[in-house]
Amino acid sequence: MKYCTKCGKELVDEAVVCTGCGCPVGQAPKASASNSNKQTMREAARIIMIVFTVFTGFAIIPLCWMIPMTVYLNNRVKNNEEISLAYKICCLLFCGTVPGILLLLEDI
Ligand SMILES: [Zn+2]
Repeated sequence: MKYCTKCGKELVDEAVVCTGCGCPVGQAPKASASNSNKQTMREAARIIMIVFTVFTGFAIIPLCWMIPMTVYLNNRVKNNEEISLAYKICCLLFCGTVPGILLLLEDI
């Protein structure tokens, strides 16, 4: 359904002239086209936002092991205790390349 832009009378979609006031009603389809373009853009933005939010959620998962491993290393270093080779390799693979390499090279 579209409406006359002058008098506001409800018109059938195929109408070219308003049955209420007689003015031409050619602008309506153009406006609805730009409106559907706007809807498409908003829908695209909505979907992208959902995808980004899900991926950002997955990016938080490494904190599950990085926090305990950091606490473990913090305590070991503070108490000057021995750090196992397994921990050093896990640190290199799952936490960070630089701390992993530094730990593996400490005995050399
Ligand atoms: Zn009218």
